[in-house]
Amino acid sequence: MPDHCLPSPNPDRRPAKRIRAITTVAALGIVLGSCDAAAQPAQPEAASGFAERRAVQARHAMAATANPHATRAAIDILRRGGNALDAAIAAQMVLTLVEPQSSGIGGGAFLLYRDARTGRLVAFDGRETAPADADERLFLGADGKPLAFYDAVVGGRSVGVPGAVRMLEAAHARHGRLPWAVLFQPAIRLARDGFPVSARLHNQIGLDKHLKRDPAAAAYFFDTRGEPHPVGHRLRNPALAETLQAIARRGSLALHTGPIARDIVAAVRDHPTNPGRLGERDLAFYRPIVRDALCVPWRRMLICGMPPPSSGGIAVAQIVSLFGHDPAARLTDASGALEADGVHRFAEAGRLAFADRNRYVADPAFVDWPRGLLAPAYLARRASRIGERSIGRAEPGEPADARQAGGESLSFERPATSHLSIVDRQGNLLSMTTTIEDSFGARLMVRGFLLNNQLTDFSLQPVEAGGPVANRVQPGKRPRSSMAPTLVFERNRDGRRGAWLLATGSPGGSQIINYVAQTLVATLIDGRDIQQAISLPHAGSRNGPTELEAGRVAPGLEQQLRGRGHEVRLIDMTSGLQGIRRVCDAARGCRLVGGTDPRREGTVEGY
Ligand code: GLU
Repeated sequence: MPDHCLPSPNPDRRPAKRIRAITTVAALGIVLGSCDAAAQPAQPEAASGFAERRAVQARHAMAATANPHATRAAIDILRRGGNALDAAIAAQMVLTLVEPQSSGIGGGAFLLYRDARTGRLVAFDGRETAPADADERLFLGADGKPLAFYDAVVGGRSVGVPGAVRMLEAAHARHGRLPWAVLFQPAIRLARDGFPVSARLHNQIGLDKHLKRDPAAAAYFFDTRGEPHPVGHRLRNPALAETLQAIARRGSLALHTGPIARDIVAAVRDHPTNPGRLGERDLAFYRPIVRDALCVPWRRMLICGMPPPSSGGIAVAQIVSLFGHDPAARLTDASGALEADGVHRFAEAGRLAFADRNRYVADPAFVDWPRGLLAPAYLARRASRIGERSIGRAEPGEPADARQAGGESLSFERPATSHLSIVDRQGNLLSMTTTIEDSFGARLMVRGFLLNNQLTDFSLQPVEAGGPVANRVQPGKRPRSSMAPTLVFERNRDGRRGAWLLATGSPGGSQIINYVAQTLVATLIDGRDIQQAISLPHAGSRNGPTELEAGRVAPGLEQQLRGRGHEVRLIDMTSGLQGIRRVCDAARGCRLVGGTDPRREGTVEGY
C-alpha cells in the first residue's frame, strides 16, 4: 500500500477490550490504495511500554535479540564455542517459540554475514516466494478490486514458501562451526518444558482478532475459557519440539518434504474460507539465494545492507547520503533531543528515498533495479531538492539507467518481524532480520508453528496508472521487502572494507527503513551511543505526512515542522532495533557496546 496512507481512527479495528497489558497503543486504522478503502490497524505489534535502557558493554562477544530467552540461547552457543552464525540459528529457533507473532520457521529472513577469517561479506536471501500457481490476480476480488487487508492475509492465500530454515541451513553449511543439531537443543528443551508467557506475548494474543479462527492456534494460545494465557503461564509446545527435532535430525528436508510439508500444504489449500495455492513442489524446490551485500561508500565508511528483493539496503543508504549531503546537518542538539532542522532534513530525505523504492525495487529476477539510484551524482541531484520548506510528496527520480516504468506498489508491510545482531570472539559479524510478516502471520498454525503471510508484501494491485507494477505477484517471485539488516565498516584509503563499526536492524514494516537510517544518522553523524540512538523518539517520512512518535517528541517540534510546510502525524512507532557498536580508544582499546529497543522486550548480553 502507499506508505503515505496513514492511520485514521477506525473504531472497527479497535481491540474488543483492553487486556491486562503494559501497552498504551491505540489500535488505529490505516487506509489502503487511494487512502479510502479497507482499514487495518497501524501497529499489529504494539509497543511493550517504554522502559529506559542502558548500553551494555563487553570485550569479546555480544548478542542482541528481541527476547531474553533467544539472547540467552545465543550467548550459550557462543560460550560453547559456536560462532555468530551458530548463535543466530539457535536464537531463531527459540524465537519461533517465544516470539511466535514475529518470526519463525514458517517465515523468511535476510542475513548479512561477515566471515572474520576470509573477510568475505555475504547476504543470504531466505525470502518467501510465490507458489508456481500464483498469478497477479491473487489478491483481487471478484469485482477486480484489491481485497481488504485482512481478507487477503488470514488463511492460505497469503502464505509464501517459507525460506528461513533453508537459508540458515545454507549459511550453516558455509560458515557454521557447531553441528546443526546442537543448535536446536535450547529451543527443543524450552518447547518441551515450557516458557513463561511474557507480557508482550500475552498482549499480542489479546489484541489479535483473527488468531482464534484457526483451531490449532486457538487451542495453543488461549485457555479453556478462550482468554489469552496470562503473563507467567508456562506454555508448552510439544508439537514444535517434535518439528524442531525432525529439522535438527534431517535438516530442511524435514520441513520442505514429507509429512510436515504435506500438513503445511493441506492447511493452505484446504482452508475453509480463504484457500491458497502453495503446493508440495513449491516447498520441495525452494532455494535460498546467496547475494553480494549491497555496500555503499559514504564519507569514510561503507554502509552495507540487503540488496533487492529488499528495498531496505538501497533506501537506508539513500537516506543517510541525502541527509549527510550537508556536512553540517545533525539530527539532535547538544542535549540529545531531536532538533527541527534535522528532522526536516531527515523527513525530506525519506520522501525522496521512498519515492524511488516504490517505483524501482522488486525481485531482481523479474525486474532489474537501476544502480544509478546510488550514484554520487544522482544523490547530489536528489539532495539539492531539499530546501527550507517541505517538498510534500516527492516524485521518483530518473537515474541514468532507469528502465522500469509503471505504477507504484500497492503493498502492505506490516510492523511485526524481529531483528538480531551478533558478533563473536573471532570477529564474525551477523545482522539478520526475520519475519512471518503480519503479527501471527496468516494465523495458520501447523505442527506447532505459524505460517507467514508474506505474499501480501506484493502489490495487491498488478497495474497502476496504466502500467504494470514492478512488485506485482508472479509465480516464483519474491515480494519486495523493507527489511534492512545493516553492517557498517570503515572504508580504507583504497576503498576497501576496513574494520567494522556497527551492526543493526529493526522490524517495523516499511518504517524499518526510517528506524535504521535514523539509528545510523544518530550514531555515525551525531556521535550518540548506540542505546541513545535506539531510544531517540522516532521521526521520518515515507513520502506522505511527516511521522512523529506519539507521546515522545517535544511538543514544539510539531509546530516547527508545520511552519515549514510539513503535514504532521503523531503515531505509535514500534521499532525493535538491536544494535552493536564497536568502539575503540587509545586508552581502553576496543570494546563492544550494545543497545536494544525500549519499545519491545529485547535484551543484549555479552562477555
Ligand atoms: N514483511 C515486511 C518486509 O519484509 C516486514 C514486516 C515487519 O517488519 O514487521 O519488509
